[in-house]
Amino acid sequence: GSSAASLIQRNPLFSSLDSKDVSYFKEILGEKNVVEDKERLETANTDWMHKYKGSSKLMLLPKNTQEVSQILEYCDSRRLAVVPQGGNTGLVGGSVPVFDEVIVNVGLMNKILSFDEVSGVLVCEAGCILENLATFLDTKGFIMPLDLGAKGSCHIGGNVSTNAGGLRLIRYGSLHGTVLGLEAVTANGNVLDMLGTLRKDNTGYDLKHLFIGSEGSLGIVTKVSILTQPKLSSVNLAFIACKDYLSCQKLLVEAKRNLGEILSAFEFLDNNSMDLVLNHLDGVRNPVSSSENFYILIETTGSDETNDREKLEAFLLKSLEKGLVSDGVIAQDINQASSFWRIREGITEALQKAGAVYKYDLSLPVEEIYNIVNDLRGRLGDLANVMGYGHLGDGNLHLNISAAEYNDKLLGLIEPYVYEWTSKHRGSISAEHGLGVMKANEIFYSKSPETVALMASIKKLLDPKGILNPYKVLPHSLFSN
Ligand code: FAD
Repeated sequence: GSSAASLIQRNPLFSSLDSKDVSYFKEILGEKNVVEDKERLETANTDWMHKYKGSSKLMLLPKNTQEVSQILEYCDSRRLAVVPQGGNTGLVGGSVPVFDEVIVNVGLMNKILSFDEVSGVLVCEAGCILENLATFLDTKGFIMPLDLGAKGSCHIGGNVSTNAGGLRLIRYGSLHGTVLGLEAVTANGNVLDMLGTLRKDNTGYDLKHLFIGSEGSLGIVTKVSILTQPKLSSVNLAFIACKDYLSCQKLLVEAKRNLGEILSAFEFLDNNSMDLVLNHLDGVRNPVSSSENFYILIETTGSDETNDREKLEAFLLKSLEKGLVSDGVIAQDINQASSFWRIREGITEALQKAGAVYKYDLSLPVEEIYNIVNDLRGRLGDLANVMGYGHLGDGNLHLNISAAEYNDKLLGLIEPYVYEWTSKHRGSISAEHGLGVMKANEIFYSKSPETVALMASIKKLLDPKGILNPYKVLPHSLFSN
């Protein structure tokens, strides 16, 4: 399945773990936070999709920044390769070893350090689970600026390291805007305190951005400072059916214009995605009466309960009259709203149950988004089921190809076709999931050679021996000598 990984050779410059290393780690971390147990290692070596699998013999669980620093300083001096791991929900094989890299999981670093109820700035350790942060903030009347289907397991440090997008990006922007500061440890154990809590700070290069989205290749993120948002009193959710893709596009334009300041999510799925969810997840049903080619979820978040709801109802009615929408319902309560979200958020899980899945996460001009789905359907015929869904409001398509099992013939028809198609339309081959091991060698489809060369120089500056998350993000050929 993981053909990208199977083409890579272990870098012979890396040392292999020996018993002295293990003793040293036990000394600094304590016995129980040095994991050699086979079962736990099996889980930590395997990615969420069960597609990528490493063979690490050791997982380390540091409790604080100083321990992370000691671990990295030692690994760097011994030239032991390391894979930083968070909740292990990443979808590009970035969070598991390719070979025998030592796994450093920051899950024990899960304390909330401070919360400022005036500015809304939350400071916490990197291992905090996203949903736990959301639950904490709820008691204070605030929400996280990001939300995603993996919230029950993913860590904020993992979110920052992948620059996760998710369902609220259309409203609150990317983590490059909402993360105000962070603390990170570089390969030699150096601790970089960039844990600012200020909205504005133009004092030199803003280096925290190097760690947002660099997928553990430049350092381990240990603390995060993030701007949260007040929890507003009125949240409404509509589930809408559209007969064609052009109507979805027009609806997006109309929604931005007419719902404006209260629009907080605009998600879409096609009929193939809907069928998959209905077939593979229990207790799910189609909220609208008849099946259609496309479905849209529009969420609004505002502070005026009566007006916001009227606004959404009027919008829906007008869209029905104009023929942009063929059917639509507004959730009557929070349970119905969660049942609507369950459909959109359950697609990843349903795909997982359906068999083998090839996942592509593309940014494309909105008018092109569904052309690639149709083209690929034509190309693959009945070899596989092609699905399109995603964050339409952000121009982000999740293109998924589901088949009974992984096979090279199918993969050969998909790649490089999908990457070439995306590049031709000046899209991105990774909108929000990152490159990991899956797409490290494909970076040139979205970035120029000069840009990649500068990235490699930065990597060499921060991690001269290349111990941090090797074989990921950048083409392996740049580092093999
Ligand atoms: P991991 O998977 O453990 O790691 C991801 C990468 O970050 C790896 O390269 C790892 O080395 C690195 N890393 C992790 N922690 C650290 C750290 N502390 N310091 C340095 N590097 C670190 N993504 C989206 O963007 N939007 C979505 O809507 C979305 N929905 C999802 C839904 C489901 C059901 C699933 C399974 C995944 C989804 N994802 C989505 C994928 C997304 O990338 C992850 O869920 C999340 O951001 C990764 O966090 P994690 O803690 O699990 O990181």
